[in-house]
Amino acid sequence: MKIEILTLFPELVEQVVRFGIPRKAVEAGILELKARDIRDYSEDRDRRVDDRPYGGGPGMVMEAEPLTAAIAAAKAAIGEARVIGLSPQGEPLTQDWVRRLALEPGLILLCGRYEGPDERAMRAVDVELSLGDFVLSGGELPAMALVDAIARWLPGALGHEQSAPNDSFASGLLDHPHYTRPEHWRGEAVPEVLLSGDHAKVARWRLKQALGATWLKRPDLLAGLELNKEQTRLLREFIAEAGLDSPDSDVL
Ligand code: SAM
Repeated sequence: MKIEILTLFPELVEQVVRFGIPRKAVEAGILELKARDIRDYSEDRDRRVDDRPYGGGPGMVMEAEPLTAAIAAAKAAIGEARVIGLSPQGEPLTQDWVRRLALEPGLILLCGRYEGPDERAMRAVDVELSLGDFVLSGGELPAMALVDAIARWLPGALGHEQSAPNDSFASGLLDHPHYTRPEHWRGEAVPEVLLSGDHAKVARWRLKQALGATWLKRPDLLAGLELNKEQTRLLREFIAEAGLDSPDSDVL
């Protein structure tokens, strides 16, 4: 997959492929990342790309021309690709979005700064995605988060010891808890079932814990799922074992 990030801070976004899974994906040749400096498309001799807002008020606005020219250059370089504007006003970025975007051959990520782009530049943006309901100073961190999340879904990027389909959200549930050595640590033992070697029992325990974690931490996710009989039984067991009250949601 080819990703172009359009930014005022190319050195910043390039860091995302210097470490961990995104770096492995680049080394394996399954991910190519280019950071394109929006200032290279400025028509100003001082390479300015921002100006004062019409109507007055604080802050500066990114000019439409350099942004649109940078998008056109990125398209010329990697071919037709979906243009994603990182924006607090966008659709919330979810694992579902990440999985779908990981299937695309190329993506262009547009990072805003200041008060954001001139609204007319948004005509060249296909979709706006947000990292959450808070405001950052720029789209670089969201773009880097998106690249990292996408890299996990590129075939061959993760070793078999780590697998994106087992992560939280992939099945609609949060991930189950994980343990490693030592078996006893500060008075707490690893759950016995994980030492049993019985794969079916381990799978059942993990599903129960995933259901329980989702019920406790993200009931909103559970409300969107239709649990089958086995899952309902496991969640009831989890609640009973934890000595918790029955949920007032209509999940069970
Ligand atoms: N005036 C804008 C507003 O209130 O909607 C905020 C502009 S923000 C200071 C500058 C840039 O940071 C935005 O254009 C966007 O690219 C990026 N940004 C800020 N918060 C973000 C978020 N939650 N998700 C994605 N991008 C964000």
